[in-house]
Amino acid sequence: MRRPVSIVWFKRDLRLADHAPLAAAAAAGPVLPLWIVEPDQWRAPDTSGRQYLFQVECAAGLSADLAALGQKLVVRIGEPVAVLRALAAALPVAAIEAHQESTGERDFARDRAVRAWARAAGIAFREHRQNGAIRALASRDGWAARWERFTRAPIVPPPRALAPLPIDPGTIPGPQALGLPPDPCPGRQRGGRGAARSLLASFLSGRARSYRRAMASPLAGWDACSRLSPHLAAGTLSVREAAQAARAARGQAEGQLREGIDSFLTRLAWHCHFIQKIETEPGLERRALHPAYRGLEGAGEHDPRFRAWAEGRTGWPFVDACMRCLAETGWLNFRARAMLVSVATMHLGLDWRAVGLQLARRFTDYEPGIHWSQVQMQSGVTGVNTIRMYNPVKQGLDQDPDGVFVRRWIPELRGLAGAAVHTPWSAGGAAAYPPPIGDHEALARAARERLWGLRRGAGYRAAADAVQERHGSRRSGMPRTGQRRKAPAQRALPLGE
Ligand SMILES: Cc1cc2nc3c(=O)[nH]c(=O)nc-3n(C[C@H](O)[C@H](O)[C@H](O)COP(=O)(O)OP(=O)(O)OC[C@H]3O[C@@H](n4cnc5c(N)ncnc54)[C@H](O)[C@@H]3O)c2cc1C
Repeated sequence: MRRPVSIVWFKRDLRLADHAPLAAAAAAGPVLPLWIVEPDQWRAPDTSGRQYLFQVECAAGLSADLAALGQKLVVRIGEPVAVLRALAAALPVAAIEAHQESTGERDFARDRAVRAWARAAGIAFREHRQNGAIRALASRDGWAARWERFTRAPIVPPPRALAPLPIDPGTIPGPQALGLPPDPCPGRQRGGRGAARSLLASFLSGRARSYRRAMASPLAGWDACSRLSPHLAAGTLSVREAAQAARAARGQAEGQLREGIDSFLTRLAWHCHFIQKIETEPGLERRALHPAYRGLEGAGEHDPRFRAWAEGRTGWPFVDACMRCLAETGWLNFRARAMLVSVATMHLGLDWRAVGLQLARRFTDYEPGIHWSQVQMQSGVTGVNTIRMYNPVKQGLDQDPDGVFVRRWIPELRGLAGAAVHTPWSAGGAAAYPPPIGDHEALARAARERLWGLRRGAGYRAAADAVQERHGSRRSGMPRTGQRRKAPAQRALPLGE
C-alpha cells in the first residue's frame, strides 16, 4: 500500500520559504505540490493577462525550486474541487495544506466548496495564516500588536528534500489556452523569487533613502518605491520575510535610509490592515461600506467619459499620462492611483465599481483587499474618510513640475516645453490631443456638494460609526479609516502615503 500524500495547494504563496503548509506537509510524509490554474478566476472581470503572465513566471520559478528538492510543481487546470477529486482518485490523499486566502467573495465561495468536499471525503483541509489578516476576528482592538507578533515569529525554513511522486506534473498553460484576451504590457515587472529578493535587497540597502521624498511622484517613485507589490500579491515573498529583512536593515541604517525603512515597515502593516477588511467583509468589492452610497453609483464602462478616462484621453494631461503609463507598465505609485480614482468617481461621476475593475485589471499587483478598500476610500463611499479630491492640474504641477513624465507618456504634447504641458489649452491646444473633458474646478465643486450633501443626511453618522468600529485601526501609525468612535467621522484622515 502506497503512503498517503499531503497536497500542498499553492495559491498566492508561490515560494518555498516561510511556507507553513509546505513545512507541515513535508513533516507528515510525501508531498504533492499543486498549482491549480482556475479558468473561472481568469475569466473574472478583475483579472487580466498581465497578472496571469506574472504568476506563470512565479510558478515556473517555484517549480524549478521544487524540482531541486525532488518533486516539481504539479499543474492542473480546472475548478479546484474537480481537480482535487481527480487527484484523490489517483492516489491516497491524507490532507490538503494551504494558506488562508482573503481575496473576496469568489474565492471565499471556492474555499468553502473545497472545505465541504474535503470533509465529505474524509480528507483534512488545513488553512494556515500567511499575513496579518485574522479569520473570524471579533474586534479590531489589539490587531496591531497581533500583526507585530505575527511578523516577528520565526521564518519557517523550506524542506530539505521531497520524495518524487509517480505523477504527471502537467504543464503551465499559456494565456491563449485560457482564452485570455491579449494584454500587452511591455514594461511589466518580472515574476519569480529571484526578482523579489533582488528588489528587497536593493531597496533596503539604498533605494529606501529617497523613498519618503520621492514616493508621491510617479516618475521618481519608479525607483524610490520598493516595487515589491506584485511579489507580495503573488507571495514570492512573504510579508513576514519583508518585515524581518527591513527590521534587520534598519538596525544598520541611519538618517534618510532608516526613515525610509520605517515608512516601508508601516506600509507592510497597512498591507495586512487592508486585507483584514475584505477578510472581515467579503463583498466590499461590490458594495459600498457606508449604506448611504449604495444604489447611487454613477455611470459605467459604456459611458463615453469612462472610455476617455480608461484610454487616457480626458484632455487632462497628468491624468492621461498616469493612465497610459499604467497600461504600459502595470504599476503606478499610490498618489497617482488615488488621483485616478478621485477624478473618475468625483469629477466625472463614474461608478466606483467599474473604475475599480478597470484599474484592477491594469495592476500587475492586484490585491483585492487593498485595492477595493482604497477604491472605496478614494471615491468617498466608506463614509468615514475625509473626502479627498485631487486637482488634476495641480497634481501634475506638483509631481511633475518640468513635464517630463507627461511628455514621456503623451507624445502629442512633446512640442510643449516645461510646465506648459499641464495646461495645453492655455498654449492654444495641441494637434491630436483632445480638449479637456470638462472644467475640472466646476466639476470638483459639484462633486463636493453632492458628497457632503449625503453626509448631512439622517442616520449618516451612526452608520459611519459602525463602519469605523468594524474596520478602523486602533493606533497611530496605522492607516486610520476614521477617528475613534466618538469623534466626528468627517474629520478622519485617510493616510496612504
Ligand atoms: C486606488 C488604489 C488601488 C490600489 N490597489 C493596490 C493593489 O491592488 N495592490 C497593492 O499591493 N497595492 C495597491 N494600492 C496601494 C499602493 O498604491 C501600492 O501598494 C504601491 O503603490 C505599490 O508599490 P510598491 O510596492 O513600490 O509600494 P511601497 O510604497 O514600496 O510599499 C511597500 C508595500 O506596502 C504595501 N502598501 C504600500 N502602500 C500601501 C497602502 N496605501 N495600502 C496598503 N498597502 C500598501 C504594498 O504591499 C507595497 O508593496 C492601491 C492604492 C490605491 C490608491
